[in-house]
Amino acid sequence: MGRTAKPTGRPVIPIAIEDATEDLIFFEDGRPPRSPVIMYFKEYDIGRMAAGYVCLQCKEDLDTAFPEECPICRYKMAARQAEDFAKEYRGNAHIGPSTTLEQEREIMNYLREKKARDTGHIWTPSIVVPELKGWH
Ligand SMILES: [Zn+2]
Repeated sequence: MGRTAKPTGRPVIPIAIEDATEDLIFFEDGRPPRSPVIMYFKEYDIGRMAAGYVCLQCKEDLDTAFPEECPICRYKMAARQAEDFAKEYRGNAHIGPSTTLEQEREIMNYLREKKARDTGHIWTPSIVVPELKGWH
């Protein structure tokens, strides 16, 4: 009998999920192919997974590293987690805008200006002033 673990009550939540449409899974029984899901986690949570504290299958956070099996989903963590993690882990990705700070400022300014125009205000870089009707 290996080590047993208890949930800490802090299951790990992915920060983003997307379909990996470039590698479809095909089923032999004729079900339509399905794309596997890529889940993104905070670096800290990835570290806990690599260290064996977070179940790779159900993402439950545990108080013991690499227990015999996950107390929630019965995944054989001691036997499989290290190997499966190595297989499934795809490395770090940047989540969020891929724009530069300069581009973001331009976008912000554009959006502010657009909003000001849309709401009947004209816009200057620092202040929003009411449009003077009939003034030329
Ligand atoms: Zn589990």
